[in-house]
Amino acid sequence: MTTHDLSHAERALRDAPEAGRLDRADAEWLATRLGDASIRAAVMAAAAESKRIACGDVVTVSRNVFVPLTNLCRDRCSYCTFAKQPDSAEAKTYTLDEVAELISGGDRTGCIEALFCLGDKPEIAYRAYKEWLTGEGFRSTAEYLVEGCKVGVAGGLLPHTNAGILTVPEMEALKPVNASMGLMLESTSPKLRGKGQAHQYAPDKDPKVRLRMHEEAGELKIPFTTGMLIGIGEDEADRVDTLYAIRDLDDRFDHIQEAIIQPFHPKPGTRMRWAAALPDSEVAGWIALSRLVLGHRIQLQAPPNLAPGLLEELLHAGVGDWGGVSPVTLDFINPEAPWPTLRDLRDRTEAAGQRLVERLPVYPRHLGRPEFFAGDMLERTQTFVDDRGYALPRGGLEAA
Ligand code: SF4
Repeated sequence: MTTHDLSHAERALRDAPEAGRLDRADAEWLATRLGDASIRAAVMAAAAESKRIACGDVVTVSRNVFVPLTNLCRDRCSYCTFAKQPDSAEAKTYTLDEVAELISGGDRTGCIEALFCLGDKPEIAYRAYKEWLTGEGFRSTAEYLVEGCKVGVAGGLLPHTNAGILTVPEMEALKPVNASMGLMLESTSPKLRGKGQAHQYAPDKDPKVRLRMHEEAGELKIPFTTGMLIGIGEDEADRVDTLYAIRDLDDRFDHIQEAIIQPFHPKPGTRMRWAAALPDSEVAGWIALSRLVLGHRIQLQAPPNLAPGLLEELLHAGVGDWGGVSPVTLDFINPEAPWPTLRDLRDRTEAAGQRLVERLPVYPRHLGRPEFFAGDMLERTQTFVDDRGYALPRGGLEAA
């Protein structure tokens, strides 16, 4: 790196924290230089300042119960260990009674969020599952999911659904029984669908399909979680493009509540088991650059169980949310990565000079705006919040 490069970086970053907008040409220039420690440090310092302007010293977390309604999925992403084949001993679709049991465990331990996370349209790929659904009286997984979410609501929790690609009528049916919904954009790069790539056997990972669902969720006014996976075969330009696509969606529809920046980790038993993960320093650099591109309105989330040795660095890179952390269930997507305890998360957040605050599955930004809710969901959310839009104590953090 030259002195000229560093002054170029400083110039590019000077106004970005205050403006909450990093110019795209500057983002592209910085993206190719994140491997340089001095430039990365400058990007992280700017990102930390942008986060401070956006939300002060608050770092949020949602205490949740994870409901993996079914781990059957019609896609086969090369890095995934969540999805199982129907003949696997680990294949599992929860009955509604089992959902009620999970929800009750969540309620007893002070959770607010019921995270429904499941495979994408398994009924298209697996006849036996389709027959089971029909026997239960449902035409699709999405119809069954609506009933699952009703169980979550009846059990006193606020559902947040991530069920892969959903149609407009499916999202309309889910909106009254969800406080928010989500879909990882992952990447806008079409090359990941190519031969030998991470999404070759995953038709639902077509970026056009995913972008369209984000737009439809925006038209339906659903508070929406998205995110980017890093290290699955995309390059720096793809990552920058993905971040600007997310920013553009929120500019147009005002509905992107948070973006998760999730680093790829190779897992045994997957086709990508030998692929290298990004070095921690680069992960922190990308988190920081994401904060600068996404600005003040979209919260930036990093799952703490996927970078347990890096929490302090992530806090210095502009992370403002740790996502869902469960006292009762595993992270079924990454079962090898246990969640930290809330106490540990609180202590480490405070040691970095910030404050851990519990939130709902929907952020203060969208709370209280009736167009973003359907049925009685707006009223339900209001029973959980304090006057700042964060969670009232339910024995959660206080008891941790
Ligand atoms: S990552 Fe999601 S879409 Fe891909 S195989 Fe796993 S569950 Fe299915």
